[in-house]
Amino acid sequence: MKLLRYGQPGQEKVGAIDSDGQLRDLSLLVPDLTPEWLAPARLQALAAIRLDRMPLVEGKQRFGVPVAGVRQFVCIGLNYRKHAEESGLPIPQEPVVFTKALTSLSGADDDIVLAPGSEETDWEIELGFVIGTTARNVKVEDALAHVAGYCLANDVSERNWQLKRNGQWGKGKSFDTYGPIGPWLATADEIRDPQALQMELRVNGDVKQASNTADMIFSVAELVSYLSRFMTLLPGDIVITGTPAGVGLGMKPPQFLRKGDVVTLSIDGLGTQTQRVV
Ligand code: ZN
Repeated sequence: MKLLRYGQPGQEKVGAIDSDGQLRDLSLLVPDLTPEWLAPARLQALAAIRLDRMPLVEGKQRFGVPVAGVRQFVCIGLNYRKHAEESGLPIPQEPVVFTKALTSLSGADDDIVLAPGSEETDWEIELGFVIGTTARNVKVEDALAHVAGYCLANDVSERNWQLKRNGQWGKGKSFDTYGPIGPWLATADEIRDPQALQMELRVNGDVKQASNTADMIFSVAELVSYLSRFMTLLPGDIVITGTPAGVGLGMKPPQFLRKGDVVTLSIDGLGTQTQRVV
């Protein structure tokens, strides 16, 4: 099922994409996609809904962050070999973990508002997943059972402040609008293999990143298990799994986002995002 939240910021209603690609309103059944709705039993109940009997939503809609009440926004760095190489950083022996501020979360097609004074804002297409059940010290083989679903993410990053302002990466990654997620949460049953998804990001129509989640160093299952040894993962937590090669920082000379640029990204089964840089 492709679950989403549509409408103006702060007033989103719950919807789903039906088999014809049309938006259906679920707000009479689901007040909001809060963490308790991500439990397996609730998701099974939602999957039983006859979408063709739910109200059709017509006209262009804004898509908000597909889940509400997110409690952590956890990120994995350098999870693709060629990206670690282009960044001039060693291939990690263990996952690199950092966080983005929750206030950076934004809708799939919302504008990227350049942070004041930013000269080095960069793009990063990533596979995201959302936790459905509490995960604490889980084994790799049990890990995927804790994933409610998958989503597309852009880990927008200010490189100067990420890398040259001392301390941890979150500083360059936490500005408002630097965390587009969506348009929808594809429940785990929709994604047969999270390690076989084609991904592509373009800036002004030019392909910058083209890869496949098969190239990830640490798989989704390994990441859930690994993170759960260091922190308790709660329903509604969003984890993004690292970006492949082709970021602006790795270009010679480096390229960064400027006002008026348009970023388009997509992953198999997870939809497309289009962001204007303002
Ligand atoms: Zn990233």
